[in-house]
Amino acid sequence: MQRIRSAQLYEEAQQHIVGGVNSPSRSFKAVGGGAPVFMKKGQGARFWDVDDNQYIDYLAAFGPIITGHAHPKITEAIVRAAHDGTLYGTATEHEIRLAEQLKAAIPSMDKVRFVNSGTEAVMTTIRVARAFTGRNKIIKFAGCYHGHADLVLVAAGSGPSTLGIPDSAGIPPSIASEVITVPFNELDGLRLALERWGDQVAAVMVEPIVGNFGMVMPKPGFLEALCKMTREAGALVIYDEVISAFRFHYGSSQTFSAFPDQDAIRPDLTALGKIIGGGLPIGAYGGRADLMAMIAPLGPAYQAGTMAGNPASVLAGLACLEVLREPGVYTRMEAMATRLCEGLQASADKHGIPLTINRIVGAFSTHFCDHPVTNYEEAQGSDGEQFAHFFRLMLDRGIYLAPSKYEAWFLTTAHTDADIEETVAAADASFQEMAAGR
Ligand code: PMP
Repeated sequence: MQRIRSAQLYEEAQQHIVGGVNSPSRSFKAVGGGAPVFMKKGQGARFWDVDDNQYIDYLAAFGPIITGHAHPKITEAIVRAAHDGTLYGTATEHEIRLAEQLKAAIPSMDKVRFVNSGTEAVMTTIRVARAFTGRNKIIKFAGCYHGHADLVLVAAGSGPSTLGIPDSAGIPPSIASEVITVPFNELDGLRLALERWGDQVAAVMVEPIVGNFGMVMPKPGFLEALCKMTREAGALVIYDEVISAFRFHYGSSQTFSAFPDQDAIRPDLTALGKIIGGGLPIGAYGGRADLMAMIAPLGPAYQAGTMAGNPASVLAGLACLEVLREPGVYTRMEAMATRLCEGLQASADKHGIPLTINRIVGAFSTHFCDHPVTNYEEAQGSDGEQFAHFFRLMLDRGIYLAPSKYEAWFLTTAHTDADIEETVAAADASFQEMAAGR
């Protein structure tokens, strides 16, 4: 497969855009470097690059594109927004409708505020927690990524860990020292941290279902104990559901059937993003009414945004959620993901390639290792070079995966059985090539 135009554009892009990309996770640094692919068009589960190569898309733009590219209902919503003017700097009725939908699906959200990205949503939940508790420290879990704000770019997963920079430069030690990092899926670290600093901790922040060092479920009882221990310390529980909300079912982790006792895992605050904007920029945070009342104009904690709740993002988000409410949507994505994972595993086994797959409904991660992946350390222990090799072989066969061993494969409502068959065949040929050492 030739990607001449992508290579040319990459050369050009590097003269103008730092690193040639507007987000480091789009570069191919973690998979051996070189020119990333420049795309020009997407339709359904496929997209096309500037050299007219076609790919089946499992990146789904790192999550938001759950209905596939250019879904007619979302396109219609965006066109409507464009015709009516894209920004007023005033309140609109659309914002109320999207807030209502989120509240109906996520019972712990009494009040909602829209922002423009997951990063902003997370940042502000921390501000609310600090304002409310009068404490400064945050506990987070190793490998969880919560956006690029100073406060949480400590032992983050996803991009930073892939690039080998767990802490970013430019973050004052005084800020990093307010963040305590403990291992995911293990209560001892959290218990010790709370014993030592509990009276200074404003919040425990967690991806309740992890999407940033593979797809990782919390072990049974983990979230329940986390919530209990956190509350006993007088701190708040913040769920970062930027990836997980509406990904596995219509709702958040709190309402996911894998967790039997909703009340026991109820967070105080939740951060959202990605899917709720239907592919346009958005973030949202919400939670208990008394906590949300800390935010201006009601309370003393400030947060604002020129673009926040803009009609295009909100209408696209409403259209996306409408598609996701159609019966059978998640069951279909799950059935396809299951078949795909079975095919991948059987083929890897056949060729003697160690592969651990973590699947949750229609999303899964592939780890080149022969041990389970339940925490960041185990994810780090998978073979990045093998992943990079697999990534390139799949790319040349027209299958687009996220360029990082930590990221998930996402099914969308647009993927078809034929896509799954084509992908399994491509993986089989790729594993065969890897086994032959080519
Ligand atoms: N939290 C989580 C769990 C995420 O996965 C991400 C993005 N991958 C973010 C926060 C940050 O979101 P954004 O990129 O929209 O700022």
